Amino acid sequence: MPIILNIINDINNILILPKTLYIFDIDEVILTFTHSNDIWWNEKRKNYLKLYYDIFMTENMIYNEWINIMNTTKPVLLINNFNDILNKITENNSNYIFLTARKPFLKKLTILHLQYCNINIDDNKIFFDKEKGNKLLELFNNNINIYEYNNIIFIDDLIENINNVNDKLSIYSNTHNILLYNFLYLHK
Ligand SMILES: [Mg+2]
Repeated sequence: MPIILNIINDINNILILPKTLYIFDIDEVILTFTHSNDIWWNEKRKNYLKLYYDIFMTENMIYNEWINIMNTTKPVLLINNFNDILNKITENNSNYIFLTARKPFLKKLTILHLQYCNINIDDNKIFFDKEKGNKLLELFNNNINIYEYNNIIFIDDLIENINNVNDKLSIYSNTHNILLYNFLYLHK
């Protein structure tokens, strides 16, 4: 079965199917921090590089600022009825997990960010890895019995994550329908 890629600008447009594992990204899909999106990141990078001429130092400084923003401000929910979507998924005998590129030490804070947005989930449903395709292979080998599902649906705003998952999950394309949604996050 071919792997299908869809581009969406509304999470309500994802298909809700039975026996499906949903994998949601978090930042710029479910929630965002108004001042720390990739436009902010690129601006900072430009300015700091002009000052320091050092890419490593620049990235470190921006990263620390970003951690500070995440620690001190509240995120904004991007989909009002996200809990309805999660309910529909479980009502259809399907399941969901969250897979974020945030670092694992941010687990507590990430759960808090979701709670601010009124999303209360088991902390065993959140996974942290920037190599999303590899992480999914690892989960399917150890934690998740992927043969309980007919379909795998992955939702992310970054095309490099979509491509990585497309590549790594191709070994499941004989046994599963795989649907990849590239959510287009529109900066305000
Ligand atoms: Mg994201």
